[in-house]
Amino acid sequence: MLAIKSKNLLTVQITGLVNAETEFPVLDTKGVDTIIFDFNKLDGFNSYGVKGWISYLQKIDPEMKIIFRNCKRIVVDQMNMVTNFLPANAVVESFYVPYHCPKCQKFFNSLYEHGKQYENKIVSQLTQVVCDKCKIDAEMDVIKAKYFNFLTR
Ligand SMILES: [Zn+2]
Repeated sequence: MLAIKSKNLLTVQITGLVNAETEFPVLDTKGVDTIIFDFNKLDGFNSYGVKGWISYLQKIDPEMKIIFRNCKRIVVDQMNMVTNFLPANAVVESFYVPYHCPKCQKFFNSLYEHGKQYENKIVSQLTQVVCDKCKIDAEMDVIKAKYFNFLTR
């Protein structure tokens, strides 16, 4: 894991499998008003990792702006299931929606971005994913009402 400070932004890469042994980076928040957590290189969370994550977040000043970026399905599932996984003051900047091709079963991850596919707690535009091999529409691999539920909390 890596924390990179650039002016008022602190970007933290959450990587690998987060478990009981995980040591989260120390957050040097001097002069920082926004912390971005980027999950693009995350492999997963086990239950100990989730506990550690929540207590890590609770140490952050509540005035700090928190952004979640590139939330994979494993992160979205936790945000939907676990209270406090996504802090009340945090904004989800982008997350992945899984799709699969009904013919060849290939999986696709489509990035949904705040201000594009969704805004103000509502998904306004579903992305149409086309299987590059079969040239037909892929289907969303999740139940919309459940998967997007974290946006409405
Ligand atoms: Zn296909």
